[in-house]
Amino acid sequence: MGSKAKKKISEKRKPSQQLPKKVKKNIVLQQKNTPPPAADKKNVSPYQVVLHNYETAVKKIQLDEEIALLIKTPDRELRVELPVKMDDGKLNIFIGYRVQHNNARGPYKGGIRYHQDVDLDEVRALASLMTLKTAVADIPFGGAKGGITVNPSQLSKNELERLTREFTSKIDLVIGPSEDIPAPDVNTNAGVMSWMMDEYSSRHGYSPGVVTGKPIELGGSLGREEATGRGVCLALREAAKTYKLDLKKAGVAIQGFGNVGSNTARILDEEMGVKVIAIGDVQGAIYNQRGIRYRDALHQLKTTGSVVGLKGCVKLSNEELLEMKCDVLIPAALDGQLHAGNAANVKAKLIVEAANNPTTFEADEIFASKNIPVVPDIFANSGGVTVSYFEWAQNMQRFRWEYSTVVRELEKIMMNSYAAVQKSSEKYKVTLRIGAFILAVERVAKATMLRGK
Ligand code: NAD
Repeated sequence: MGSKAKKKISEKRKPSQQLPKKVKKNIVLQQKNTPPPAADKKNVSPYQVVLHNYETAVKKIQLDEEIALLIKTPDRELRVELPVKMDDGKLNIFIGYRVQHNNARGPYKGGIRYHQDVDLDEVRALASLMTLKTAVADIPFGGAKGGITVNPSQLSKNELERLTREFTSKIDLVIGPSEDIPAPDVNTNAGVMSWMMDEYSSRHGYSPGVVTGKPIELGGSLGREEATGRGVCLALREAAKTYKLDLKKAGVAIQGFGNVGSNTARILDEEMGVKVIAIGDVQGAIYNQRGIRYRDALHQLKTTGSVVGLKGCVKLSNEELLEMKCDVLIPAALDGQLHAGNAANVKAKLIVEAANNPTTFEADEIFASKNIPVVPDIFANSGGVTVSYFEWAQNMQRFRWEYSTVVRELEKIMMNSYAAVQKSSEKYKVTLRIGAFILAVERVAKATMLRGK
């Protein structure tokens, strides 16, 4: 990018929020409309997938071109350099990002990912999806996402804490309870949120509302930890009614056994009586046609670091899990898992996207041709951000809800969202994904026009 195209982020801040020179040099406001990077090995990059679906939705409703352009591109992209002293005394430089996509409907909102593959394209895609997700759930937030390019399993706890605090101090100028509220995502959890909240509070006073997904003791919400998984199960329950799938007889395969995958497996197995026949994690997958008990898989993970090796199960690769014979496939790990190279081999009757952006648009076309419905991420995994909204609202009111209230209110929102997504897809005769995109774009466009931007 040319220097003229770069704009210091401090130009957008109030004088009292100006940055010290040392910090300024690491912070660059990227030019709007920066093209996505070249296609990756799966043919398309995460942001290209989001843009493709966005363009399809916008074209279908013939949205005003200027509004469409305004919503399409992120409002602000922050790239920060993170020098961290490692335990052995050496200095390591990490790179972090915070992309604020849109705040027409409320403060920016979205998780923080720690992963070796994090790059600007991925964060941009995930930030855009957050804008659409909060609009589908009809909660008063916009969309953002952040991440650090790091393999956290190679860092000690102390190194992770120093990295998290450095990142928080570098993005301090753009986050805040009424501006931008981070949350956990892949490889981040309530502990990471505690460090972020503490670091931010050291400058601004006690501010529990600056992050969600915190421990209960620090203002976290009952039911937040399991919320994304619970929402996924509600999404599956509603979609199963539409597509006449008898869940009592169904076998479910889940890729990913972290926060989202494990809570989905637990609720399916222990609350809904639905058989989970395969589970995968980063080390591989396991399969048992008779069903895998959640507590056995959890015990295996806790004692060995992976579900792989659980007694009585056949070992599969992650690719085999995605292509195995099952009724429901739930990708709950990373993006781009279902793509042009494997979609034709998928045998599931229904796909419920617990992960963000797990399906490329090429795979979507193949699933549509095979009549495999895909319950899209911006609805299916919206339980997490919905309960994050409940947590934030409790923090702002200095009040705590009971667990039963959280679960009841979450169910209400998930059911309303499903009905709205379905109605939209029927009205425009499009897939559930494009129906959800249209619903979200219409809501964001309405807010944008009302605010007169
Ligand atoms: P997590 O870090 O808790 O778990 C990730 C899981 O994926 C782990 O089991 C890991 O072993 C597995 N995994 C990692 N790489 C893999 C690979 N290459 N193949 C197979 N499995 C792999 O993360 P999470 O919070 O459960 O998030 C999972 C997905 O759900 C992500 O796409 C995330 O963006 C999305 N999501 C999370 C939340 C939330 O509240 N945490 C909310 C909405 C969406």
